[in-house]
Amino acid sequence: MSDLYYQSAAELARLLEKGEISARQLMQSVIDRTHSVEEKIHAFLRFDPDEALVEAEKSDQRRAAGKSLGSLDGIPIGLKDLICVSGQGLTCGSRILENYVSPYDATCAARLKERGAILWGRLNMDEFAMGSSTENSAFQTTCNPWNTECIPGGSSGGSTAAVAAGETIAALGSDTGGSIRQPASLCGVVGLKPSYGLVSRYGLAAFASSLDQIGPITRTVEDSALILQAIAGHDARDSTSFKAHIPDYQAALKAPPRRWKLGLPREYFAEGLDPEIRQAVEKAVDFYKNEGCEIVEISLPHTELALPVYYILAPAEASSNLARYDGVRYTHRSERAEDHVDLYFKSRGEGFGQEVKRRIILGAYVLSSGYYDAYYLRAQKIRTLIRNDFMDAFKKVDALITPVSPTAAFKIGERLDDPLSMYLSDIYTLSINLAGLPAISVPCGFTSKKLPVGVQIIGQPFKEAEMLSIANLYDSTHRFGMEHPEL
Ligand code: GLN
Repeated sequence: MSDLYYQSAAELARLLEKGEISARQLMQSVIDRTHSVEEKIHAFLRFDPDEALVEAEKSDQRRAAGKSLGSLDGIPIGLKDLICVSGQGLTCGSRILENYVSPYDATCAARLKERGAILWGRLNMDEFAMGSSTENSAFQTTCNPWNTECIPGGSSGGSTAAVAAGETIAALGSDTGGSIRQPASLCGVVGLKPSYGLVSRYGLAAFASSLDQIGPITRTVEDSALILQAIAGHDARDSTSFKAHIPDYQAALKAPPRRWKLGLPREYFAEGLDPEIRQAVEKAVDFYKNEGCEIVEISLPHTELALPVYYILAPAEASSNLARYDGVRYTHRSERAEDHVDLYFKSRGEGFGQEVKRRIILGAYVLSSGYYDAYYLRAQKIRTLIRNDFMDAFKKVDALITPVSPTAAFKIGERLDDPLSMYLSDIYTLSINLAGLPAISVPCGFTSKKLPVGVQIIGQPFKEAEMLSIANLYDSTHRFGMEHPEL
């Protein structure tokens, strides 16, 4: 049997079920792999092999007693370090939360635990999920397993690098403007951002609350469906959680293929798209054509406004959400403060990194009186126009196909001094958050330098089942996410 740490979760579930492997054996394989490659990748902020092995043994005992908790029982899943797990640290990649310990479980973490998954380690990220390269982490820079001189993408770069390097079987990330899909694409794995409201945000450290969603990072679309099934569904503790009917996502993958009508938004294939990325995505489009799908060109006319609108709304929400980190409660507390106002200034000054400060300043500015109408209010109105573009498109097509990122992974340090070029990494993913839609990044090949490329399928609100089945039509016959970097 080939290395367990590189199997898909679905395959491992079958092996566990048949008794061909034990959860302990699987966990040990992942731990050994992590020990051997982590010094090159730096994906984890923390992990605890002893605790993970104890959980794996419990899983084996449950199974032996005929009380298996289902297909995730015994499967190691890593969490981005902004999802609360009771009793564990949660840094959000920031010095300001360096010593914080979560007092409760996030709903998605609790749901994974209930299904027997082993929460394996805390994964690196850009500070407060602000960034596209994981270089904004206050603690370390994660390297791309396909070329360790390159960034893994971000902000969930620790999660995607760990899955790509075989250091975990799957992971959870968060996506506010592309932070699951862009790093998934750059690391050659599958990343799914659910419809806004499908997965509870309870226990997710907030960046921009009207955009944030938690989602799975996996090697196959089948695994994505498996994990989404576990974490999706209404939660009374998140007031924006939607009471959607949760279909059987795995069953949807097995349904006979349909002749989908798929839209290509012309604005996503315009200037700025690297020719090699375009080629890989067009090849995926050709595959759908050959499968009998109808491909139609469509237009999303407000696309060019998505980036400016996002960089008004996301910082505005962030400046308000991050106000709670004040040096008084649960955060870094400056020891040099002279009075209580000085305590706020110095604690925040010492605790936050440069990008976070940039966003707080931007956000406070666009919300300030005199500028509120000109920036924040206008941006909200344009957000509606962006959503309307998509809803108009969905009158004609079932889903959309686009690139995920305009380029493949870039070199570490290359865009650090140029925030705008960094912001452009998410040009094809931001609009989807603004519109609240589901989207999935599926690996679709490599550049000539053997760097992974992803294709994005954008679905209709709460039609994850259809989106997954469209994605699986391609993935089940290509499986680029099951190809592995040499490490
Ligand atoms: N890169 C984008 C930003 O920096 C998106 C981040 C995200 O999705 N969390 O805001």
